[in-house]
Amino acid sequence: MIQFNDTQIAFAWRSNSDLKKAKILFKTIGWPSLVKVGSVMLNIALAIRFPISWIIKPTIFNHFVGGEDLNESNKMAALLSQYSVKSVLDYSVEGADTEKSQEAAYNEILRSIKNAEGNPNIAFTVFKPTGLINTSILEKVSNSESLTELEIQQFSLFKNRVKTLCQESVKSNTAILVDAEDSWYQKAIDDVVQQMMEQFNKSEALVYNTFQMYRTDRLDYLKTMQAEAKVKGYKLGAKFVRGAYMEKERARAQSIDYPSPIHPNKEATDKAFDDAQEYSFNHLDTVSIFCGTHNEVSIQKLCGLMEKNGIANNDNRITFSQLLGMSDNISFMLAHKGYNVAKYIPYGPVRKVMPYLIRRAEENTSVKGQTGRELSLIKAELKRRKKVRKN
Ligand SMILES: Cc1cc2nc3c(=O)[nH]c(=O)nc-3n(C[C@H](O)[C@H](O)[C@H](O)COP(=O)(O)OP(=O)(O)OC[C@H]3O[C@@H](n4cnc5c(N)ncnc54)[C@H](O)[C@@H]3O)c2cc1C
Repeated sequence: MIQFNDTQIAFAWRSNSDLKKAKILFKTIGWPSLVKVGSVMLNIALAIRFPISWIIKPTIFNHFVGGEDLNESNKMAALLSQYSVKSVLDYSVEGADTEKSQEAAYNEILRSIKNAEGNPNIAFTVFKPTGLINTSILEKVSNSESLTELEIQQFSLFKNRVKTLCQESVKSNTAILVDAEDSWYQKAIDDVVQQMMEQFNKSEALVYNTFQMYRTDRLDYLKTMQAEAKVKGYKLGAKFVRGAYMEKERARAQSIDYPSPIHPNKEATDKAFDDAQEYSFNHLDTVSIFCGTHNEVSIQKLCGLMEKNGIANNDNRITFSQLLGMSDNISFMLAHKGYNVAKYIPYGPVRKVMPYLIRRAEENTSVKGQTGRELSLIKAELKRRKKVRKN
């Protein structure tokens, strides 16, 4: 069993002042009612273009985001790398719905891929498909509905762009992750990414799709994808997460009256996540695992399987990943023990990463999340440092 409570290792990269700020931050977002009111106010501020940078940047932004651009984020990646934690620089701008914003997102992702070339601090590149196309088109394609001429062109542009992003990342020998969002348009993305894997994953997994294991259909889908990869002779890159949009999924299913695609409870999601990892582990000849979670139990299970089966900690078919600002106790301890760790470093202009930040705040309230855990680790480290100073 790996001990994840060594705060000296977890926070070696954080200054006293960083930790004090983090303590205040986690205390604040630990109040669900405050987060609720804060989220509404921030959304209003964004809508009326009220300046928010002055309050957001030194607080929640600096804790959860690498910077406003690649330059700032590269500095963060270099710092983490000193502790063997690699980075995934994630341009976290969501739901671009004009051609101009999609083109801008595409160009920025291309820049992030070029930035990864020859950069030892970057382990993977990543993109969100919804930054590149309107979700209404993805939804139509997912439902096999007919498209207008314009939509056909836009979907074709989307596929070409995805291909170029994969091609460029593969050229620089950096694997690329494709994020997942809402289930009702995921099929179109799955199909495109599967084609990319078939093309680029001949000898190793360089393109990874995301499997949201809170979905009831994903374990079967994983098995189908693994079998297909085996038959066709390519590697399946599988990024596993539990899934970030549960409430939205359930609300939509209820309002349009179809069965919720999400597991009925947390235990079922946890089981699906662990089953998917174990299934993939048992098929490491075909599947490479990107384990995206802050859940210590799931991580212990995967590490346990590796140890029991004599798989080296740094086997390049298994990577662990957590989000910047969360679970440093896991990331830095795993890296310390020689596992492959890639921290997701979101970046982007303050206003544009607000949806990401609001999700992180909501996920970290004391009701839903792990605020208590983060807070007690931060407090323990501050206390430890004080004691060391006294001695
Ligand atoms: C590196 C990384 C990349 C990520 N990329 C994506 C991505 O591309 N797409 C995406 O959707 N998310 C992504 N996420 C977020 C992820 O899906 C989770 O929301 C987040 O990590 C919390 O889950 P956990 O496994 O870390 O922790 P845990 O606290 O163990 O799990 C919380 C999760 O369990 C599930 N859950 C909670 N309550 C219930 C319930 N009552 N019934 C059923 N299920 C429940 C939900 O999925 C919830 O988010 C990513 C996370 C990481 C660390």
